[in-house]
Amino acid sequence: MNVSNRNRAINSVAQRIVQADAAPDGNCAPIDYYAKDVFNASAIRKYLSRGAAEKLLATIQDGAKLDPSVAGDVAHAMKDWAISRGATHYTHWFQPMTGGTAEKHDAFLDINEQGEAIMTFSGNNLVKSESDASSFPSGGLRCTFEARGYTAWDPTSPAFVKRNPRGATLCIPSIFCSYTGEVLDKKIPLLRSIQALKKSITRFMDCFNVPPARTTITLGAEQEYFLIDRNFYLQRPDLLQTGRTLFGSAPAKHQQLENHYFGAIKPRVLNFMAEVEEELWRLGIPARTRHNEVAPAQFELAPTFEELNLAVDHNTLTMEILRRVAAKNGLVCLLHEKPFEGVNGSGKHNNWSVMYGSRNLLDPGDDPRRNSIFLAFLTSIIRAVDLHGDLLRCSTVTVGNDYRLGANEAPPAIVSIYLGERLSETLRQVENGVFDKNSNTKRHHLRVGVATSPNLSSDDSDRNRTSPLAFTGNKFEFRACGSSQSCAGFNTFMNVAVAESLDYISERIEQYKDDQEKFDTELQKLLGEILSKHKRIIYNGNNYSKSWVAEAKKRGLPNLQTSLEALRPLLNPRNHQLLEKYEVFTPIELESRYEVMVEEYIRKIQIEGEVTRSMAQNQIFPVVLEEYGELLKALKVAEDSGVEAGLSALKNSIETIGLLLDEMQTKIAEMSAIAVVDVDNCQEYIQKTREVRQVVDKLEKLVDDREWPLPKYREMLFIY
Ligand code: ADP
Ligand code: MG
Repeated sequence: MNVSNRNRAINSVAQRIVQADAAPDGNCAPIDYYAKDVFNASAIRKYLSRGAAEKLLATIQDGAKLDPSVAGDVAHAMKDWAISRGATHYTHWFQPMTGGTAEKHDAFLDINEQGEAIMTFSGNNLVKSESDASSFPSGGLRCTFEARGYTAWDPTSPAFVKRNPRGATLCIPSIFCSYTGEVLDKKIPLLRSIQALKKSITRFMDCFNVPPARTTITLGAEQEYFLIDRNFYLQRPDLLQTGRTLFGSAPAKHQQLENHYFGAIKPRVLNFMAEVEEELWRLGIPARTRHNEVAPAQFELAPTFEELNLAVDHNTLTMEILRRVAAKNGLVCLLHEKPFEGVNGSGKHNNWSVMYGSRNLLDPGDDPRRNSIFLAFLTSIIRAVDLHGDLLRCSTVTVGNDYRLGANEAPPAIVSIYLGERLSETLRQVENGVFDKNSNTKRHHLRVGVATSPNLSSDDSDRNRTSPLAFTGNKFEFRACGSSQSCAGFNTFMNVAVAESLDYISERIEQYKDDQEKFDTELQKLLGEILSKHKRIIYNGNNYSKSWVAEAKKRGLPNLQTSLEALRPLLNPRNHQLLEKYEVFTPIELESRYEVMVEEYIRKIQIEGEVTRSMAQNQIFPVVLEEYGELLKALKVAEDSGVEAGLSALKNSIETIGLLLDEMQTKIAEMSAIAVVDVDNCQEYIQKTREVRQVVDKLEKLVDDREWPLPKYREMLFIY
């Protein structure tokens, strides 16, 4: 009997088991190398003259416009620093609409008139670089005959050095736009939205007579992912081509015993995690939390929160490093939202908040009823999400997320806010203008019933894992983003929506700012008014339940179930007005984004269909046919020898498998009949693809296990 590739893979994985040796004492203290590969404040001070360093730091820390005369000095310093870290090349590192990052390396090396090698890097090289924009998705903004595009240095995110086995490259975080200035990336809208929100916050805080302070929008992005052995991965064309399994079903035991979440981390995985962290820490990315997630072979990495633009860059880099370090360890990191049907998929929780100086505007304090800034800020968010939830939903669109949202493991497509009972009660009092002394709006203490344990003060709200946007103590956690997505999309829309609501509030109250009593009365009235109009967006119950879908419909909340529906808000004139007013997107840019995303979505669906067809036809069909032939032969032998026992079992198997073979061919033909996938037939095509899968999944349960050509779920998810 021939040993299948599958078995060979299983055996090779078994030999890889990593020894759980303890690290020697005093090994790897992160404090010694943290951020050593980043051109940060300490490197800037060391390599730049005092004057130039202060100008650059003012831009980084306070958003001051960069004095162009320092670009040359900065370039020079950056080059010297990068070379000292082993760099031979530099690149503008940017985030086009492809879902990944882009880089084109140029050597520092140049040849002078004497023919000698010199290392050069000018202010111009640092500030701007030209590229062919037509080779990136632009939604019609750039075609091949008018293709010029520019990348430009984003000084607010520090340059860093990316290592490779033979050297390193200086990476300069950059924006990407067309010759005519239209946005072609994810960073420009994010930076624009940060500017807009900061401006609105300054105005808002001024209404309360709070002196100006540095405003920081913060993000902590929790990254979920799967790890499987590379040997299995290489035998799954579906994983290779689409990032998810197009065939296979959950094994008898998967996540139902709830024993993976927070379980002890296996040595091989821990080894991988430690290597990832070391790389992240070198790049000044504050990776902090690591643990097993709910599904088998699923994990999470969470950093300490940072300034939003930086945190988005850092999450992008984190995804790249997870993939690269996995490959080095004979593993594959799957960042797809739903790599395995029937077990939980992966998301990316966006924890969003705002610091004004050292004050977190979302910190309710001991009694939120006495914290009018908090109440007004919270109310502005409620209004923002009710008015622009469609944009937040739109930011979650990716093919993978369609298989995850609303599947009882991630929030549904209906955007709502969870506040918890304590805050909801507070807001009820604000809305009704009553101050109920006896109500329970203060933090309480937990009684654990163990004499030795300390008093624990409770959080401001319980956890509600089902809500898309949950208030979690001093921040909002948006849970609908997919694990493979950039955080830029959600945060861009969130910032603008909140900016608009803050302006709405400031507009109404700023005139009273010098008359405290009048101010309080007017603010109270305004907040009550807003809450009664927009409280429909608050939902503290179970967002996974069917009753919520019905209830949300009654409340008039949008339920944009498919990606194509969820992208429509990009064409809505109301959203055009909002985003244009805050100078984040022009209508043309929004329409181009719509084109890019629809096209990407449909292309990916079509690729999934084609991979499904080829695997079913070329890998599964021949194996099943062979088994069918064996059964027929066995039947003939049995009949010739006149044996009765086993005849009916053979006949049943032949019938079952034969019918499924027929069905498989019919389903493949039906799917292939849709030659061109477009907006109109996309759902139908997805359905046809799924039907092919269903037949194959039935066959997987019937066919001789030794002959099945694809690694099974029980192997990929449990053997590592
Ligand atoms: P969870 O229990 O939701 O899984 P984690 O501790 O894994 O929580 O992650 C919470 C994330 O929220 C971390 O990345 C943390 O740094 C971040 N966070 C905490 N405070 C803030 C804040 N003020 N603004 C933004 N993010 C924050
Ligand atoms: Mg977490």
